[in-house]
Amino acid sequence: MENCLFCKIIKGEIPSTKMYEDENMYIFKDIDPKAPKHYLCVPKSHFKLLSEMNDTQAEMLKACFKKIPELASILGLENGYRLVINQGDDAGQTVFHLHIHILAGKKMDWNPA
Ligand code: AMP
Ligand code: ZN
Repeated sequence: MENCLFCKIIKGEIPSTKMYEDENMYIFKDIDPKAPKHYLCVPKSHFKLLSEMNDTQAEMLKACFKKIPELASILGLENGYRLVINQGDDAGQTVFHLHIHILAGKKMDWNPA
């Protein structure tokens, strides 16, 4: 997808701190971390919303959810972690390529307000 920041990061056209990559996903450090450990897991197919996801993309997202716990020691998730997918304006989605935030490294409040 032209002009998509995360498509450009996946292609290596914009630099990132890569933590993991395979045929389904690209995982890298968030540039503005909201927790001591903050990564983004990006499916390699471009779509914005879960409501727009096709079957192939759903398989990719499933692969992401299977892989993240397998990377616990690499990403430092042993004490727990939070996964967040912002969808649309009210959630504050700013990059319109679906991504899973992986947050860890501290005790987190439960207060999205
Ligand atoms: P969201 O607001 O859910 O769309 O999340 C977008 C995330 O992308 C934010 O947490 C940003 O800090 C992060 N971000 C924006 N630009 C970059 C970049 N060049 N490299 C890494 N993370 C980025
Ligand atoms: Zn994209």
